[in-house]
Amino acid sequence: MMTSPLLQCSDVSKAFAKPDGSELLVLEGMNLSIYEAQIVGLLGRSGSGKSTLLRLIAGLAEPSAGRLDYLGQPIAGPAAGIAMVFQSFALFPWLTVYENVALGLQAQRMPKAEIRTRSLAAIDLIGLDGFESAYPRELSGGMRQRVGFARALVVHPNILLMDEPFSALDVLTAETLRTDFLDLWAEGRMPIKGVILVTHNIEEAVLMCDRILVFGSNPGRILSEIKVSLPQPRNRLDPSFRELVERIYVEMTARHAGTAAVGRQERFPGLGIGSVLPEVSTNLLAGLMEAVAAAPFNGTADLPKIASDLQMEIDELFPVAETLQMLRFAELERGDLKLTDDGLAFAHAALDERKRIFMRHLLAYVPLCAHIRRVLDERASHSARKSRFIDELEDFMNEDAAAQTLRAAIRWGRYAEAYAYDDENLMFSLEDPT
Ligand code: ADP
Ligand code: MG
Repeated sequence: MMTSPLLQCSDVSKAFAKPDGSELLVLEGMNLSIYEAQIVGLLGRSGSGKSTLLRLIAGLAEPSAGRLDYLGQPIAGPAAGIAMVFQSFALFPWLTVYENVALGLQAQRMPKAEIRTRSLAAIDLIGLDGFESAYPRELSGGMRQRVGFARALVVHPNILLMDEPFSALDVLTAETLRTDFLDLWAEGRMPIKGVILVTHNIEEAVLMCDRILVFGSNPGRILSEIKVSLPQPRNRLDPSFRELVERIYVEMTARHAGTAAVGRQERFPGLGIGSVLPEVSTNLLAGLMEAVAAAPFNGTADLPKIASDLQMEIDELFPVAETLQMLRFAELERGDLKLTDDGLAFAHAALDERKRIFMRHLLAYVPLCAHIRRVLDERASHSARKSRFIDELEDFMNEDAAAQTLRAAIRWGRYAEAYAYDDENLMFSLEDPT
């Protein structure tokens, strides 16, 4: 028998007003349904609108068009049956573990005794027994996130929303918490019916989800839906697990490269001054170019293969490969990374020559870096405050993304010696304007 969905999004779009009055379309034409007993993954790059969609579902923001229904009723504000776990834990530092958890119920005018029973049950369930009177600062990151889970579970939500809940944790802690969560879910011990998990990590999505919705960017939209029918508990080393990770991976890169015919703008993404830049080290960029240039790859490598050769996760390699593509040191197609002529030249050059090649590409293909350089060139002082560029970026993106983007521009600009940046007085300058 087909059950009716817990949640339904129909043609949902979301746009934000930019300071200049124009609109930034962040989500377009979203259609999805969430059914009972499923963990549904929203998988996509940073900036593809995953958190925005989650906020719409949580009733924290309103769509610009389309409708969202929870149990057949339009969502208007936070619904009692929907709770959220945040990446940043979002705990109150001045409240104890118990108080942080109980807080979720105090808004509900529930008898004190019941608040107590439920809060203690949630704390116990998630493995925090004995930590009731501890303060967040006394807990490790993993334990803090357990409090985040307990606070969401204590309200017995029908739908649990999780926004990259493991991504602020170290690798081992994250894996322990994932496993504990999946165990509780499999045993039906959590008072929830459905889960939506936002992630940018392909492996995490394949490990945890029954269905994965793959997001594309600019504007955020659903590119495809992938059913994961591998039995739980899943083994990352299982060949069918690897195969699925690779398939999704290839699909995500193919979509990216598949727009090549549309033109250069699309083929080499990330070309606006307001594009979010990934904070990838120049060591990694150089290392990957060297590895792909060398035998046995000789300029073209299957990314999953080279990831395993370099002992990196494919998710770690992804932003590095994308940055090479953005800088036009490489092309990405169907999971293959192919170095361009300049990419090969870089790999075979000595450091000084490398810096020259890098500078040329940085200023030609990363508008933000070209902009910083231009501002410094034009000013008599040849210097400029960091805050000036942050303000400009925040017209296009949120605070965190702006900070990350500028950090990337600083790293790359330093390597190329396109400009200098002083961490103490927060100023950019032309190092030695000769
Ligand atoms: P994701 O979670 O997939 O990384 P987000 O939903 O956080 O993506 O952001 C998608 C896009 O929407 C980004 O370009 C971001 O800068 C923009 N955005 C998000 N929230 C706002 C807001 N309140 N005002 C303006 N732009 C926003
Ligand atoms: Mg997000």
